[in-house]
Amino acid sequence: MTHDDCIFCRILKGEAQADFLYRDDDLAAFWDTRPAAPVHILIVPNKHIASINEADDEDAELLGKLILKARDLAKEVGVDEKGYRLVFNVGKDGGQTVYHIHLHLIAGTKLPIFRH
Ligand code: 5GP
Repeated sequence: MTHDDCIFCRILKGEAQADFLYRDDDLAAFWDTRPAAPVHILIVPNKHIASINEADDEDAELLGKLILKARDLAKEVGVDEKGYRLVFNVGKDGGQTVYHIHLHLIAGTKLPIFRH
């Protein structure tokens, strides 16, 4: 299921451009166009799920694959030993702007610790 008004669905269908690092039947990974750090990769399921709030129990394996692919990519781009951050933004207060689940892999600098 894809959504015509979803930028990530359009990227996955080849209707919008992206710089892909990886693709398979379940997911894709491409570079973020507005990076928050020297390394900023988005890992995105092919299935359109608006956010973690809309994920079903049956999506558990798919979500696990996103995390393990992020781990593999961290190694591939050489940031695994120094460290990296994996983030799902959820909803408005969570900072989500694209409503198609994506896992941010952010690295390449000493990342700030969140404090209230
Ligand atoms: P969110 O704020 O929803 O957690 O993250 C959305 C991310 O997608 C942002 O980091 C933003 O820079 C990135 N983004 C938005 N539109 C595009 C696009 O068309 N192509 C790519 N590669 N990244 C995008």
